[in-house]
Amino acid sequence: MNKEKLIQYLDEIADQIDQVALEIWHNPELSGQEKESADLLRRVLREHGFSIREVGEGLEHAFIGEYGSGSPVIAVLGEYDALPGLSQQLDTRQNPVVKNGAGHACGHNLLGAGALGAALAIKKYLAETGKAGTVRFYGCPEEELLVGKVKMIKAGAFAGCDLALSWHPMNVNATLEKAFLANNSIKFTFHGISAHAAQSPESGRSALDAVELMNVGANYLREHIIDEARVHYTITNAGGSPNIIPEEAESWYYIRAPHRKDVESITQRLLKIAQGAALMTETTVEHTVLGGCYHLLPNKVLSDLTYKNMTELSPPSYDPEELEFAKALQESLDPDMVQGEIKKFMPEGDSQPYVHQGVLDQEQAKSVVVSGSSDSGDVSWIMPMNLFLTASWPLGVPAHSWQATAASGASLGTKSALYASKILTGIMYDLLGDNSLVEAAQKEFEERTQNAKYVSPLAD
Ligand SMILES: [Zn+2]
Repeated sequence: MNKEKLIQYLDEIADQIDQVALEIWHNPELSGQEKESADLLRRVLREHGFSIREVGEGLEHAFIGEYGSGSPVIAVLGEYDALPGLSQQLDTRQNPVVKNGAGHACGHNLLGAGALGAALAIKKYLAETGKAGTVRFYGCPEEELLVGKVKMIKAGAFAGCDLALSWHPMNVNATLEKAFLANNSIKFTFHGISAHAAQSPESGRSALDAVELMNVGANYLREHIIDEARVHYTITNAGGSPNIIPEEAESWYYIRAPHRKDVESITQRLLKIAQGAALMTETTVEHTVLGGCYHLLPNKVLSDLTYKNMTELSPPSYDPEELEFAKALQESLDPDMVQGEIKKFMPEGDSQPYVHQGVLDQEQAKSVVVSGSSDSGDVSWIMPMNLFLTASWPLGVPAHSWQATAASGASLGTKSALYASKILTGIMYDLLGDNSLVEAAQKEFEERTQNAKYVSPLAD
């Protein structure tokens, strides 16, 4: 079975991959609640002869589907969680299925299905050729809470893998060597003394005052941290009735930076600010680390191999109806923002600047900014990993928008997932045929991590 035949097999099972993507899209489940989505993926993998292994306690919606034997052992990462409040029909104006309901605004329905397609194709290849090698589909929940894969790593789920492959829906076709801000997610709970706010304010100590003063301190901190860092917060408990001095109040912070070490040092400074706010208000403070994750550790060997496969295959083409849908979604956005992306990524004078249809060369790809965080970053710190994007949404459509939900449930999205399946399959075909590629990726990983070992951001 040659590479071309194997890629053709994906066209044969395209309907099944689409069906999985759309079924998950129609039933969006939030982080930590992805029961039906995980069960669907488990079922399809079982039907194709994969064995299914569970990951452990507290990770009910995580699993490993495995086929084959011997090395290399290749992990393909799949996600399937949705986002709150971004429910949307297949419509070009904002039109939720359920008001304030969940929606696949990060395209993880596509992410899971695209990875699944590649696992199924490589299973077919291994079965027909009798070649040595193992493919593992990793069902990874809770990505939007940035914690699923961090927990899975801690549970030892990735033991025995030689390398990992990942992709993400976006609005360009590109392979990335720089992505994801490292992150810490921390809740701060202040405890004070409640009292009647008018009758005896002198007896009370306001936990809310402490939260507010901590926020002021954090906002002054911004001037003295690196430009690329991000600190953002919400107040998750601000007390109750105004006539009662709040005894308890709570804030939730994200601290992000391009490198994990910067996140850690900014976190230490923020902890001092929390202590200062407690001191000023005569309250006490405790903090809970909800999660944390790493930035992407690049792997040039895998990145080059990904780029080769992206350009060997043709990105999807679109019919007039699909382009019309993309154009209408673009028109719902700020035109300057859309034009900015078109100028950045499309060849000048392109008559259909709605969906990215080429592949960014590796130099151009450096201008793609992925400043969100992902727990996939952590996987890149325990073994060699690639990362590529495919154009699932029209140019200008941001992730985590209702427009992204709409495109992720349309053929724009499913076509990009099939393209991703083909790229992942092509990469695995090459790796299984030439072990020196696996060795080179691992050697590069060893060199890059020689003086920087992975330490789980999660406490024991
Ligand atoms: Zn995502």
